[in-house]
Amino acid sequence: TLTTLASIKETIKQKHVDLLHLQFVDIEGTLKQVTVTTEQLEDVAEGKTMFDGSSITGFSPINKSDLYLLPDLNTFAVLPWTETEDYSEGRFLCSVINPDGTLFEGDPRNILKKTVDEASEKGFSINVGPELEFFLFEADDKGNPTNQVADVGGYFEPAPYDLGEKVRLEIYRTLKKMGFTIEASHHEVAVGQHEINFKYDDALTTADNATTFKWVVKTVAQQFGLRATFMPKPIFGENGNGMHVNMSLFQNEEGKNAFYDETDSRQLSETAYQFIAGLLKHVPSFAALTNPLVNSYKRLVPGYEAPCYIAWSASNRSALVRIPATRGAGTRVEIRCPDPSANPYYAFAAIAQAGIDGVESNLAVPEEIIDDIFSMTEIEREERGISNLPTTLGESIQALESGEIGKKVLGEFALQEYLSLKKAEWNSYRIAVTGWELDRYQAKF
Ligand code: GLU
Ligand code: MG
Ligand code: MG
Repeated sequence: TLTTLASIKETIKQKHVDLLHLQFVDIEGTLKQVTVTTEQLEDVAEGKTMFDGSSITGFSPINKSDLYLLPDLNTFAVLPWTETEDYSEGRFLCSVINPDGTLFEGDPRNILKKTVDEASEKGFSINVGPELEFFLFEADDKGNPTNQVADVGGYFEPAPYDLGEKVRLEIYRTLKKMGFTIEASHHEVAVGQHEINFKYDDALTTADNATTFKWVVKTVAQQFGLRATFMPKPIFGENGNGMHVNMSLFQNEEGKNAFYDETDSRQLSETAYQFIAGLLKHVPSFAALTNPLVNSYKRLVPGYEAPCYIAWSASNRSALVRIPATRGAGTRVEIRCPDPSANPYYAFAAIAQAGIDGVESNLAVPEEIIDDIFSMTEIEREERGISNLPTTLGESIQALESGEIGKKVLGEFALQEYLSLKKAEWNSYRIAVTGWELDRYQAKF
């Protein structure tokens, strides 16, 4: 359903919306906002809000710094935690526009839109359903997160009615008021770890939803005196935070799921197999987008339900790409390496471009791996053609730079901005002397 300006005005009146936050994301997917009063809605809706692009990470074109925000009316929401009887605040997610009215090429929303438009020219629309995991930690007196988790539950554990459970319930209520359809909510495997799933949608809506989701989770956790983190591996020796991405293509003309074919032994279409092949081929070169932090690679290790090897399977959870059992309109692939620190606009664009490249190049899918990959020896894996995911951010930056997907997804401008940001991050980590090194070496050598 498309939201009109008139219906927004109606809501503003009804809910006494006083302030509007105009939000967008920087190159890392971090939420930014400028706040205006509701009286300015007309101008705001026409994209007349200017900001200094040179102060936003990854937005600084050399020759221009004035950029404008164009709100996407469909993203309008009243913020439930601001609501009183006669006051509330609203927000829009915005696209970033150049002074001449064209789309700014460094804006992650515009970058995903480009992929969505390209797919649409090829006759496909992209559906995405992500599964974001997070931890809840206690805060210290100053409000900084500690390493104390907020509860001790395990996978699917219900009782006792602990703090984690209460926070999750409040997150659910808040998101529901903001228009989300929540499908499930549960305690995850690790202590203090949770997952709440919202309904799949088209790629852009879902990236917007993932951005909103992370903001709401952090906001609500804070109301309980807790700190939520989507950092991929906050605790050594425990499961990390994944963001499995479920994706399917729909054939626009026939209005059918392009991955479903009832005549196939697995009821998967040729398009589905080619899409999987594209993911497996390109994953090393898009890992820097789906797994963007130094810390991301500490999650992708054996023993914690996160993938390390490049393989697919219709059922096996040790594989990078899994095909959930649903068929018909719900047929989809699940890629398990992404983590929730990724910029969702980049992550979804990269996965879609990689898969669609597989379809366009008629790539042949490698054999399905039914056995547990984690119990294979290195030689067995080699014999079966199973290679490793990148093991460090340094490795994946190199692959992003030399691969085709980076330029296809980000374009030259954003790719260079992203590479220089990530190289600086990697170098800063590379030269740091850590506690691990001191413990291991200081006394001995
Ligand atoms: N937390 C696991 C990961 O790091 C995923 C667990 C699950 O299957 O939901 O990807
Ligand atoms: Mg999970
Ligand atoms: Mg999953």
